[in-house]
Amino acid sequence: MIGELILSEKYQSVGQLAASISHEIRNPLTTARGFLQLMNMDKLSKEQFERYRKYAYEGLDHASHIITEYLNYSKPNNETAKPLHVKQEIESVVQWLHAYSVEKNVTIITHHMSERDPYVQAEPKQFQQCLLNIMKNAIEAMPDGGLLTVQSRLVQDQVQILIRDTGIGMSAEQLKRIGKPYFTTKESGTGLGLMVVMSLVKAMNGKILFRSKLNQGTICEIHLQQVAREE
Ligand code: ADP
Ligand code: MG
Repeated sequence: MIGELILSEKYQSVGQLAASISHEIRNPLTTARGFLQLMNMDKLSKEQFERYRKYAYEGLDHASHIITEYLNYSKPNNETAKPLHVKQEIESVVQWLHAYSVEKNVTIITHHMSERDPYVQAEPKQFQQCLLNIMKNAIEAMPDGGLLTVQSRLVQDQVQILIRDTGIGMSAEQLKRIGKPYFTTKESGTGLGLMVVMSLVKAMNGKILFRSKLNQGTICEIHLQQVAREE
């Protein structure tokens, strides 16, 4: 696929991330609480009541989305990083997304190209969070269904994971903005998913890059150092 290529250098430190995330979750919860309180008022019209209820739900849903994007996320801690079997990690995240992909009419295919099974040094939940956020975006980029291909390969001593979709793609302008906090083109997006991914990949000493073309699709590549399997 010919398209734009960017190497993303935007990231916040993991500590900064944790702070902004708690803030982001508290906001919609406070809003939801406010609307629930309003619903207790006397003499509300049915329309007002329904509107407040809708806003309260939206606040709760928004908080819930943010939590999903950070579900597995915790401070990187070298003690908890360990050699991870890349193929197994990919397969479990694909399993988590199974119901979601069926609902969205998306087929997920995985290819593991290397003869030996590669390992990378990472904290399992953080690694899974990266894959989850990228694959979720890929599925969301295919509103009419499509194909999500996840490939792992070994290039010299580098483990490369490619996540490719046949979705709406991104313009050069959009590509420049991904990973910036709150950049979203989705009605109920958080614009935090890729920010988290970029910070975590950075913490793993890895690289991430995106190629995309409008109406054709997007490829995201993660490159990480291969490590030996634990004795
Ligand atoms: P969110 O998913 O909440 O919008 P993200 O940080 O995960 O936040 O993504 C930011 C934006 O990047 C998305 O709103 C979308 O515009 C764009 N994007 C990310 N991945 C893809 C993709 N695979 N195809 C098209 N656009 C994408
Ligand atoms: Mg997202």
